[in-house]
Amino acid sequence: MDWFVQLSYFVAAVLFIFGLKAMSSPVTARQGVMWAGVGMVLATAATLFHPSVEGVGNITLIILAVAIGGGFAWFTAIKVKMTEMPQMVAVYNGLGGGSAGAIAAVALLQGARATEGTSVAAEMGSDVAVLALLGGVIGSVAFSGSMIAWAKLDERLKKSTLVENHQWWNVGLAVVTALLALWVYHTGSGFPILLFFLAALALGIFITVPIGGADMPVVISLFNALTGLAVGFKGYVLGNLALIIAGTVVGAAGMLLTVLMAKAMNRSIANILFSGFGATPSASGSSEGGEMKEVGPADGAYMMAYADRVVIVPGYGLAVAQAQHKLWEMVELLQQHDVEVKFAIHPVAGRMPGHMNVLLAEAGVPYDMIYDMDEINEEFEGTDVVLIIGANDVVNPAAREDESSPIYGMPILNVDYADNVLVVKRGRGAGFSGVENTLFFRDNTRMVFGDAQKVVAEMVQTVKSM
Ligand code: NDP
Repeated sequence: MDWFVQLSYFVAAVLFIFGLKAMSSPVTARQGVMWAGVGMVLATAATLFHPSVEGVGNITLIILAVAIGGGFAWFTAIKVKMTEMPQMVAVYNGLGGGSAGAIAAVALLQGARATEGTSVAAEMGSDVAVLALLGGVIGSVAFSGSMIAWAKLDERLKKSTLVENHQWWNVGLAVVTALLALWVYHTGSGFPILLFFLAALALGIFITVPIGGADMPVVISLFNALTGLAVGFKGYVLGNLALIIAGTVVGAAGMLLTVLMAKAMNRSIANILFSGFGATPSASGSSEGGEMKEVGPADGAYMMAYADRVVIVPGYGLAVAQAQHKLWEMVELLQQHDVEVKFAIHPVAGRMPGHMNVLLAEAGVPYDMIYDMDEINEEFEGTDVVLIIGANDVVNPAAREDESSPIYGMPILNVDYADNVLVVKRGRGAGFSGVENTLFFRDNTRMVFGDAQKVVAEMVQTVKSM
């Protein structure tokens, strides 16, 4: 039977890797998710035949647990709104870390119970004990940290709470956790194991609470990478190849994604974790002087219908308003007026990587109309009208020009180089980072205040009547 399990794990690993590869393009992403999903089902089913499961009498309970967990995940994933997707990822990723931590706890407790006076390390083997402890701390930090990230994204906790000297608290807790790990390693009792896990869970909370709300998606991606690592360690402890492969793939992919997101914001991972970005609101009001100039949706529609070239920049507000279908209707009407329309997507527009691509794909926008920041940034000069719809931070020229700005250095879409800029948003407030947008006060910018869905519906009516 073992050859069958190992072969299934090999096929599952191949499916994970090809699935991940397919996810890198919007054209094949759905296929990729399916392949990886089939791989996961195969690996889970094969595990029931794994030699380590032999003699375990509660197979019915295991199947029941998988059915309840799987059913709940299926139901919530179908119900979840696109704007709440990062919260869902935070919760499910946290649960992955939590289960890796729980497996470590069980392995360590079994080791402790069997020792009778000697140490956990002697019972389990020192390499396995070290990996169980590492997996335990990483899984627990990923669990409690992800839960805090969920609470912040869901606005149940303040975006950022700076505790005085929070770095020292973190260092202190990390040292306590390491000392407890040493105690667990050298003794054969359950009490230090309990203290060790409590300290690791507290560490996850203390690390995450001071981090700014706008940085949560990066933190979730980092915890996702850590969860992968913890799962990989658990694979070693349990002698399970599928866990080692899946954990390593998730760990590597999560780490790459974290680095790419940090790069797109021109921040280091250390700066994201320790700077408390967004804890103190930045100065509001225009540093450049000037007033916001307002126009109605109909005026905006006329500007676009009489233009040769229009570039649309979607942001988080488009997702909130669910205005992507109306927007596409308007684009098709503009094309009938011989307007050349393109979409420009910033790598961190919205609340997760690829957020805007998914939204536009949902509305049926062809992929060849969608351009990445690097592809389109040269083209804004000479563009007649840029329509910014629910985006803010990703088009803030302060990131390019104002060295004192907290977002200075973040690459942005150079929309201010266009002849005219239309900004659709509900009010005068700042973006997710809390930084005032100097673009709104520029001479070539016009504000169209209102919910994106309503504004675009009015624009559609205007273009139709022309
Ligand atoms: P922002 O969050 O900066 O701004 C969104 C704007 O949408 C707001 O100014 C808001 O203004 C407007 N808005 C909200 N609801 C509506 C509505 N119903 N109709 C019209 N407008 C609306 O969005 P961006 O996409 O520009 O920036 C993304 C932010 O998220 C950046 O700070 C980025 O660093 C951060 N981030 C993103 C990650 C990612 O992977 N995508 C990862 C990490 C961080 P008003 O309230 O006035 O309507």
